[in-house]
Amino acid sequence: METRIIDIHCKQCGAPARYDIIRQEYRCGYCGGITGLEDAVREKKGFRKMQGTRLQREVKAFSLVKTSCTGCGAEVVFAESEALSGCPFCGRNLVRSEYLNTRGLPESIIPFAVTEEEAKERLEAWCRENKGKREASHLMPLIGELRGFYLPYELVRGPVHMKVSRMDGGGVFPCEGFMNGAFVNRSRQLDNLLLDGMEPFDPEKMVPFEFSYAAGQRVKISDVSDKELEERVGTEMENECTPAVRKTLETKAVQVRADVGSAVRLPVLLPVYYICRGDVMAAVNGQTGKVSVRAEKVSHYYFLPWWFKAILATAVVCAALFLCLWHGGMGVSGSLIISGMFAIVFLIIMLCLYSDTEKNSFSVEAGYKIFTSGSGDRRGRKEPGEGAVPERETLQPVFLQNIDGEMRPVALRFTTPGRVLKLVLLSVTAMFLPVIAALLLNGFDFGRLQLGGSAVWFCIAVPIVPVYVIKFGIVELYEHPLVYTIAEDGTKKRYKKRPSFRFSGRTILTILRVLFVPPLCFAVWFGIISFVVMVLLTSGAIE
Ligand SMILES: [Zn+2]
Ligand SMILES: [Zn+2]
Repeated sequence: METRIIDIHCKQCGAPARYDIIRQEYRCGYCGGITGLEDAVREKKGFRKMQGTRLQREVKAFSLVKTSCTGCGAEVVFAESEALSGCPFCGRNLVRSEYLNTRGLPESIIPFAVTEEEAKERLEAWCRENKGKREASHLMPLIGELRGFYLPYELVRGPVHMKVSRMDGGGVFPCEGFMNGAFVNRSRQLDNLLLDGMEPFDPEKMVPFEFSYAAGQRVKISDVSDKELEERVGTEMENECTPAVRKTLETKAVQVRADVGSAVRLPVLLPVYYICRGDVMAAVNGQTGKVSVRAEKVSHYYFLPWWFKAILATAVVCAALFLCLWHGGMGVSGSLIISGMFAIVFLIIMLCLYSDTEKNSFSVEAGYKIFTSGSGDRRGRKEPGEGAVPERETLQPVFLQNIDGEMRPVALRFTTPGRVLKLVLLSVTAMFLPVIAALLLNGFDFGRLQLGGSAVWFCIAVPIVPVYVIKFGIVELYEHPLVYTIAEDGTKKRYKKRPSFRFSGRTILTILRVLFVPPLCFAVWFGIISFVVMVLLTSGAIE
């Protein structure tokens, strides 16, 4: 059986094991043996240690030199016979030294599958296809300078424990994910987005590092501190998991906190053709040939604060309403009054609606656009006409809930049609409560109905009910989703928590206090009497 570096192997029989996201352990498809998360991490540590010892022994047989850049600090290792004048990443002077220490050298590598000639052709093809872009015209004469490098990365594969929530509040939900091999860049000098642009790489093609791979190639040494690497891994994992979480939580403004402590991590060298000359920056994936080019000019993105958007939306809608009324034959003052009144209600609603967006201040963010060949994203989609990276099975994140003292996988549903209908019915009832009571009183005699009797109620309910529905009704939907437990065979069953509310002595006491202890009881009785009068007026019982 072919063993691949990225596989986790069964503790009992050594066959590749698959991750069981529900039980959070690796399970052998061959003998059924279970391999824990820590065993998996230990297996790879063992592999790295053996490889490290072997490399340290073998390095003496190769005449390698190391150069350190006096400007950006990049360190590159290559065969002594090769020449390298000037830092390939910033162009400044290099200091040479003999290379005998293999520390900082990854134990795994994905070898080049695209030759330098092919990479140049790919880049030329990109330039021809993007003739209109200034990047293409600047890049074309420099293509001869394209050079291959093995760049240091960190492969992260394994379980991701997440805590996810909406940015505007609601519940925090525990969620389990599995990262099926993500690469995190370990170079400080290189543009992260440019490198992201030419991904994906296929981690299944990873092999143990041999010095023969370094022959005739330049190997860049990692220069990111452990702390910075931790941060990069965390951010990368959160970015990778966010799309699936967004779908479940039904908003873009989600917060994902990821813990990748039990994932397997392997430093690895990836094959990349790279060119950097001032503003001109391009990379070609040495495994698939995908091209990534950085824009020369910075693009600016503008963000508006939420309250500004609410005011803007109100202004636009009310201006339109005013024009409609005015054109419809209403006088200027009449149209102004109606659209002005509407504006107050609408503004309150809009303020509530927009207050859950993530950007809360005016800001301008700058960034470089990245142009890539093909439309592949980072999750292993096939590139038409490119060295294809096979589609890998990815595990969807699974939400967990404490059910009767045990963490179990669940499906969460927030805004289902039934729940939305319930919310609408409730708000309609609240809005027309005295009318409904009056209809019950006069035996549904619509002819005798006096809507004017409930005018006071409408004045209060019309602005308050929509605000209440948007602010509290929707938050309630998001805080207490419908929970479905998932059985072994995949069937879902609604789980209902036993109601904790009981009509206790304390509740009765509170009701009595509200009704009979002054001064609160005066307000309550005034409210009750007003409501009864309103119902009687509306029903037409009193004129
Ligand atoms: Zn086994
Ligand atoms: Zn440099």
